Amino acid sequence: MKFNDIPYVRPTVEEVNATRSKQLEKFKNAMTFDECIHAYQEIENYSYNVVYTMWNLAYIRHTIDTTNKFYAAEIDFWDESSPEMEPLVAEITEVLMHSTFRAGLEKEFGSLVFLNETIRLKTFCDEIAPDLKVENRLTSEYMNLIASAQIEFNGKTYNLEELEAYYRDPNREIRLAVNNAYRGWMCEKTLEIESIFDQLAKVRANIAKKLGHKNFVETGYYRNVRNSYDQKMVKQFRNGIVEHIVPIVTQLKEEQKNRIGVATIKPYDDELMFIDGNAKPTGTPEDIFSHARKMYQEMSSSTAEVWNFMQDHDLLDVITRPGKRTGGYQTYLSAYDAPFIFANFNGTSEDIGGMLTHEFGHAWASYLAKDIFPKSLQYVPGDIAEIHAIAMEFFTWPWMEGFFGEDCEKYYYIHLANHLAWLLYEVALDEFQHHVYEKPEMTSSQRNQLWLELEGKYRPWLDNSDVPFDGEGRRWQLQSQTFTLPFYYINYALAGVVSLSFWAKSRQNFTAAWEKYDRFTRLAGTKTFVELLEEVGMPSPFVADNLKLIADEAWKFLDENKIK
Ligand code: ZN
Repeated sequence: MKFNDIPYVRPTVEEVNATRSKQLEKFKNAMTFDECIHAYQEIENYSYNVVYTMWNLAYIRHTIDTTNKFYAAEIDFWDESSPEMEPLVAEITEVLMHSTFRAGLEKEFGSLVFLNETIRLKTFCDEIAPDLKVENRLTSEYMNLIASAQIEFNGKTYNLEELEAYYRDPNREIRLAVNNAYRGWMCEKTLEIESIFDQLAKVRANIAKKLGHKNFVETGYYRNVRNSYDQKMVKQFRNGIVEHIVPIVTQLKEEQKNRIGVATIKPYDDELMFIDGNAKPTGTPEDIFSHARKMYQEMSSSTAEVWNFMQDHDLLDVITRPGKRTGGYQTYLSAYDAPFIFANFNGTSEDIGGMLTHEFGHAWASYLAKDIFPKSLQYVPGDIAEIHAIAMEFFTWPWMEGFFGEDCEKYYYIHLANHLAWLLYEVALDEFQHHVYEKPEMTSSQRNQLWLELEGKYRPWLDNSDVPFDGEGRRWQLQSQTFTLPFYYINYALAGVVSLSFWAKSRQNFTAAWEKYDRFTRLAGTKTFVELLEEVGMPSPFVADNLKLIADEAWKFLDENKIK
């Protein structure tokens, strides 16, 4: 069945709750271990194959066309109704935790399920249901506002994603003009965005209070199922990044400045790496797809299987259009064993590095995990999931010539240099969120001031002076996860460092590195982040020496592969 033929049927809250109640009774009253396992399987099948599949389907169809009224109304329904479905989910988990068959279940499932469910239980109580509805409504409001951008530039109308491409134009006047158009639109919306975030900070503080947490930072860690490290370790990791990565990126930016002929790097200079232009994929989207098919064919039998399945069933929506949401993501429709990739191609190298390879890493991992039982272990926390995706960006390097032709060397340089620079942005956003949720009473201008200070700490080369929006410390307002997925961003940095180790290993021995990555991915969420790295013998990003080693390795490559 092709994606467009998948039928969408909205389940009612009453129906979902009635089905789950019945399943819960069966689960509670199981007389034998077999009955108990069977009942739990039924519960999961219903949740993943019916409820979450329909929810995801509505989400995908809404994001590919936010002007479609039908699916916009469906998202309103899910925003409003999903908190009303939560109490029974929590009750089922309670029964699982206290089951008379717990010892047998732990043997069958492994103990991690119980650790994860203990953490998830901390994120819900009946009293927060109304607050969750408000939170859902506000995050949707932000996403719809950003997707609504229709900006006039050079006599044409663009969405934000399309405008991004002009930040790589070798002509500085064009970059400046596009920045004025882009940031001008953001300036018009900024008060609205700040008000949304302010309400989010307050409602999240309320949720944390009702859950009995110190603040929403604690809640955010539980929501992200951080089961093997704490706030202190994350802080040390950020410090390690300041010590080992900031000096390297500062040096790289100094060289970039000279290469592109500017006195200081303004936000609209940051993306341009070479004075004669960045690496761009050659050919049409069809050419890109046909090379991707060849690449995943040659890579391994499982990548071939997943890519072909997705392409043959229209499970990739990558062309940018008016009204389409910005960014990219991968999601999974359990009922059809179908990963789905959403992206916005804009003719830059990000189409390959950020969309086609990154999101495919997620899709491949989702598909490989499809038979793991219980299903809750198929859905891995972001720290592990982002390794699946970011390492895939690097494992596709040997095939990049087919996408970039003679620009291939430039692509390697840009990909790796940007990867290091992004680590800094990622930890800055993480630190920002810690402060913001520790002090939910902060005003919008205090939040903006804080962001400016953090940019000074983590991205000291950036010259924000006289730049509207960015100069006022508002750049964080462009990052959707700050609104939709609090505390997710550090996952990219942790996974980014581990993926660099995979990159270094793949350059020494591709086959051996691939086997390690393949094994890592097939284990999905059956172990914690820290345990999984130990299991396959990958260095932990929490050890400062590892961070230094890998930073040196990346620096060596960039230094030896300089391009004018
Ligand atoms: Zn990702």
